[in-house]
Amino acid sequence: MADKMYKLPTPRVGGYSAEFYKYCRDHELRFQRCTGCGAWRHIPRDMCAKCGSFEFEWARSKGRGKVFSWTTARQPMMAQFAAHIPYSPVIVELDEGVRMVTWLTDVKPEELELGMPVEVVFDDVTPEVSLPKFRRVA
Ligand SMILES: [Zn+2]
Repeated sequence: MADKMYKLPTPRVGGYSAEFYKYCRDHELRFQRCTGCGAWRHIPRDMCAKCGSFEFEWARSKGRGKVFSWTTARQPMMAQFAAHIPYSPVIVELDEGVRMVTWLTDVKPEELELGMPVEVVFDDVTPEVSLPKFRRVA
């Protein structure tokens, strides 16, 4: 259920990112996959860095991965984040190999561990935007 009081910034959506977030709204995590060589890529872009092909599909990720890195914010850089301090933006490496910046929904900064297994969950923050976040896998 969308929270009408959501105050944090939402992604600027356009071009390929509009397609990425359209799938998120349907609670599907999809990334570009080169139809020439099969390489996955993220952030979305025109060309495969591996083989140079411009051909791709939006392939569905299994939504499973592990914590690759993070940083912890202890001061709000924007006033809207003050209620969330401390928080940790996390880089998750998906099993398909792509990495994305995201949030963990159920893990405090001091509980984070490299390699922690996680799975995607979608947070419907507005009627238009669903953010892909992750939770710890037991
Ligand atoms: Zn390729």
